[in-house]
Order: sequence, then C-alpha cells, then structure tokens
Amino acid sequence: MAKLKRFECEYCHQPFLSPYKKKFCTPVCLSKGRKKPEETLNGFIINKLLKNPKAIWKDRNASLREMGFAKKLIEKYPLKAFWVALPPKFDAESLTWYVAPQGRAYLKIEYAKFGLDLAPPIRHNVSNAKLGEDKVMSKKTTSIKDFLNHGSEKENN
Ligand SMILES: [Zn+2]
Repeated sequence: MAKLKRFECEYCHQPFLSPYKKKFCTPVCLSKGRKKPEETLNGFIINKLLKNPKAIWKDRNASLREMGFAKKLIEKYPLKAFWVALPPKFDAESLTWYVAPQGRAYLKIEYAKFGLDLAPPIRHNVSNAKLGEDKVMSKKTTSIKDFLNHGSEKENN
C-alpha cells in the first residue's frame, strides 16, 4: 500500500493525508478552489459571435468544428483586441459564415476599420520583432495602406 503523504488543501488550507499528490482535500474543495481554465481566444470568439455558444459547448462535435473555424480566423487575425472590438454581424449558428467569402470580406473591412482606429498606428519597423507571435503579426500588418491595397489579393489565394 502506498505511503500516505501530508498535503495542504489549496482551498481550505487544512492539512490532509493522501497516497498521491493532491491539491484539495475533498471534492467540495476541488470544485470551489479549482481555477477556471482561462478562456482561450478560440473560446472567446465562439462565445462572442455565436447565437447559442452553450449549445456548441455541450456538443463535442460542434465544439471541435467551431474551434477549428476559430483557429483559422485567428491565423488571419491574431490580435485579441480586434476580436474584442469586432461588432458581430448577426447571431450566427456557426462560424462557417466567417470563414466563407462573405464573412471573410466582412472581417477584412472590419479589420481595416480597426486598424484605422488604432493609436498609435501599426508600427512599420519590424527590426526589433521577437521570434514567434510578434513576428507573425508584424508580417501580417506591415501597414494599413499595404493592407488596403494588397490585402485582398493575398487572402484570395
Ligand atoms: Zn479543503
């Protein structure tokens, strides 16, 4: 039999014994003390743009499908601030609309407006860009003018 070890409950801070590492002494403390998982940007987009996100989360297939669409959208528009500012076009049942041509055009227009609203304007200098996310973003947002002139060509590939 495994040896009991002493742990302190992260919720009620009472010491308790357990044969394996545990953070909470009881299921009650677990449910009260467990941190809610931070909302991902995918989740945020689904909760914001869809009419009935709860129904989506209940349905495993639907949530996988919508998370996939959200991921595609984020690849194009990685800035969370954009998604926060975006006015939903209508109460959609699915993000399919946003990945289809009409929706893509809508996002493009909104992104251009969003870019124009940004202060200070999107930086042109990318020499200091770090690896990873920053680099991807700076590549996508060279300048608003470029975006307006060439954005459509690039995105219709
Ligand atoms: Zn406890």
